[in-house]
Amino acid sequence: MMENPRETLGRVFGFESFRPHQEQIIQDLIEGRDAFVLMPTGGGKSLCYQIPALHRPGVAIVVSPLIALMKDQVDALRFNGVRAAYYNSSLDGKTSRVVLQALQRGELDLLYVAPERLMSDEFLERLRQIEIALFAIDEAHCVSQWGHDFRPEYLALGALRDEFPAIPLIALTATADPQTRKDILTRLRLSPEACHVAGFDRPNIRYQVVEKHRPQGLLLEFLREHEGEAGIVYALSRKRVERIAESLQREGLLAAAYHAGLPDEERRRVQDAFSRDEIQVVVATVAFGMGIDKSNVRFVVHYDLPKNLESYYQETGRAGRDGLPAEALLLFGSGDIALSRGLIEKGSNPEQVRIELHKLNAMAAFAESQICRRRVLLGYFGEERQEDCGNCDICRNPPQTYDATEDARKALSC
Ligand code: ADP
Ligand code: MG
Repeated sequence: MMENPRETLGRVFGFESFRPHQEQIIQDLIEGRDAFVLMPTGGGKSLCYQIPALHRPGVAIVVSPLIALMKDQVDALRFNGVRAAYYNSSLDGKTSRVVLQALQRGELDLLYVAPERLMSDEFLERLRQIEIALFAIDEAHCVSQWGHDFRPEYLALGALRDEFPAIPLIALTATADPQTRKDILTRLRLSPEACHVAGFDRPNIRYQVVEKHRPQGLLLEFLREHEGEAGIVYALSRKRVERIAESLQREGLLAAAYHAGLPDEERRRVQDAFSRDEIQVVVATVAFGMGIDKSNVRFVVHYDLPKNLESYYQETGRAGRDGLPAEALLLFGSGDIALSRGLIEKGSNPEQVRIELHKLNAMAAFAESQICRRRVLLGYFGEERQEDCGNCDICRNPPQTYDATEDARKALSC
């Protein structure tokens, strides 16, 4: 291919310029170097391997854990004229054969594969016989037990380095505390020079924590202040989600419930209505969010304490994708910590329990923080800040500390 990556960006994807880090990562891969990409959700990770896939000979093999997301990505690529396909358990026998045939004939630029399929002996044997442009491991935090979404199938991916030592590999994730990051590098045998860490700050999001006292009333008050704006309210259980949604509807708000227990079509209806601004507030469990691409979400409320800061960051990050001011409100009661701790301690794997408790503590420390929330949040992701942000509740309204000089002044003046 004669064009440069920037030209491909315009011609195939219709974008004018690269986002931060994209160009360097793309160049590295094209030249055969590995990459580890830590970039917030929505930062534009996909292009980091999609463009190199078009610039290197052979097919790019993309590992992705979520069948639904694979299909979306492939549909979008095909729409742009890219030769892409996916290979996972959702395909029937005939379609699988068609995909494998296209792979063998060199008719694909990208193939999305579920990890367990990829690492089967039969599939690896196929790969040995064809030209491979690169390996991309999306949602790479799945390799780490420290990550919030550990998947045992991901552990086997390290073997790709033995099988295909000459093929560049890119691992991508949005959520990685320093420990998870280290795990990914070790397991996928990436060197520290391969790291590209994009900033995690979302300066337009205002973080706020409010004591959870009469939460229904607090929520209603907050929503009334945000009339006409779109937002998400996260709650812990399906039951609570339904209860909250019903109470908001009774108050005349355009609210709907969303959780994994609802029929597919109902969930799709809610998602569509929300994206068309026909629903103002979606009350949801964490099941809501994967793949929502709505840029004008103005607020995210956590009615209950999230399990860890990765989830909190990811969920609040759905607000303000358009860069305009947005709010993240956490209703926090100390009872929530005990509740979550109880749930975690029911787990059967002691190592996992230990890790999750550690993460819950960090979440609680954020909620109880007396210093700039953004500094705490970014610090957790390894980004040290020297300055307070000026756009969180602590910065805007510093906690009252006992001021002896003030007392002295008062004493003197009367
Ligand atoms: P991530 O995987 O990091 O969450 P995606 O790769 O899904 O992010 O990209 C998020 C959105 O940003 C997509 O709609 C994508 O088309 C868009 N995007 C990515 N790179 C660019 C760019 N250079 N210019 C404009 N839009 C971009
Ligand atoms: Mg992605």
